Amino acid sequence: MSDRRPSECWLTDMDGVLVHEGQALPGAADFLQRLVDRERRFLVLTNNSIFTPRDLAARLARSGLQVPEEAIWTSALATADFLAAQLPGGSAYVIGEAGLTTALHEAGYTITDTDPDYVVLGETRTYSFEAITRAIRLVEAGARFIATNPDVTGPSAEGSLPATGSVAALITKATGAEPYFVGKPNPMMFRSALNRIDGHSESTTMVGDRMDTDIVAGIEAGLETVLVLTGSTRAADVTRFPFRPGRVVDSIADVIDLV
Ligand SMILES: [Mg+2]
Repeated sequence: MSDRRPSECWLTDMDGVLVHEGQALPGAADFLQRLVDRERRFLVLTNNSIFTPRDLAARLARSGLQVPEEAIWTSALATADFLAAQLPGGSAYVIGEAGLTTALHEAGYTITDTDPDYVVLGETRTYSFEAITRAIRLVEAGARFIATNPDVTGPSAEGSLPATGSVAALITKATGAEPYFVGKPNPMMFRSALNRIDGHSESTTMVGDRMDTDIVAGIEAGLETVLVLTGSTRAADVTRFPFRPGRVVDSIADVIDLV
């Protein structure tokens, strides 16, 4: 780790860092409390675009973690932010859930299936053949193709679920159009998060559990990075990557004293 001063701002991934399958990980509550006690500005990040920040805050509360909805940043919010900056007051055909449609509405977007500026794909559990057909035809007709995040599968108790990246691949195969993915590992996700909390890259630390999303995007965004080993990355895997995090620790409990 560099000899930078303690970070004023913190970005932390949610799954695999603070929670795992709905359970708070040891140290997560104390870490969040330390951020509050030290008056650090922070956001909890997730690539999951299904839920609104309010829904996620309630889910975290059931796990025993108190995170205000204002401190949650999803790929849906990052996507809405990005589109509002690119084309203010635009329109979109959306395949996704409340997390995405709410974010787009609040960003001043109109949701329509007639001649939209964008087709925006997010996470949902109710993909329909009809909706995908509509999306394909709109992209063919010239709508620009955006997706919240490139993850191809998501976890569930029963096994993998096809996620946004897999459905995007279906639309790409049909149309030849590649989407622009806004969520991790696109550092755009962190840039918009920093904007939200008025943070700066040189005084911000990112905590994550994945080398190929959290850590690489953190490095590209110029953040200090901390990898925790409570999620998808094992210690032996770290050296396989052509980049390295600033610090590797066992769990979020080891990050408390860095705040
Ligand atoms: Mg994670």
